[in-house]
Amino acid sequence: MASESILFVEDDARVADAVIKGLAESGYDVRHATSGRGARTQLDQRCPDLMILDLGLPDIDGLDLLAECRAGGMSIPVLILTARDQLDDKVRGLESGGDDYLVKPFAFAELLARIRSLLRRSSGVSAETRVGDLRIDLVKRDVVRDGQEIVLTQREFDLLAYLVRNRNENVTRDMLARDVWKITSRATPIDNVIDVHMSHLREKVDKPFSVRLIKTIRGIGYRLEEPSS
Ligand code: CA
Repeated sequence: MASESILFVEDDARVADAVIKGLAESGYDVRHATSGRGARTQLDQRCPDLMILDLGLPDIDGLDLLAECRAGGMSIPVLILTARDQLDDKVRGLESGGDDYLVKPFAFAELLARIRSLLRRSSGVSAETRVGDLRIDLVKRDVVRDGQEIVLTQREFDLLAYLVRNRNENVTRDMLARDVWKITSRATPIDNVIDVHMSHLREKVDKPFSVRLIKTIRGIGYRLEEPSS
């Protein structure tokens, strides 16, 4: 089995160096980001098995980054690491989607124990969702339909994951612009962009199969429907 991967988001080089060395020696595949922007890039490339997140980052509050990741469907365990020892921050951290919380300074053995516990807990939980003969793994970002693996682009996957999470409900282009494309300004309508991506997604996920899962709802948007069996 491949070693479990951890993304460590931390801008303090001294803390980062020590922790990365320790985790690598403990057999983890560790990647490092020093900013929110760097973390987003890493998460887009490959989703790790666990994320350790420092809250005080140079470009974004770690809690905002976490809330954004959770809103986007990221379900891996997240261990929050921070110098803030206020109870408020702890509560906010757990409310934002953190699974555990460790206050700096900490002993490496403590961090390792928390990581092992989080990974143990998450390994038994399946991130796989089924809609008819479509199976989508939100953590590994795998899509299989009728036993065939379907290769999607990043955006196509995000679009499909969003439809799956909101299955049997109408999804408007405004919702997709806001939640998948993260565009909040109405000054830049992207309806055409959304329709093009949706068309590519259907070519891969629906067209080769007998049952169409993604319906067009005229004047509204789209809906992914669980087929009645
Ligand atoms: Ca920091």
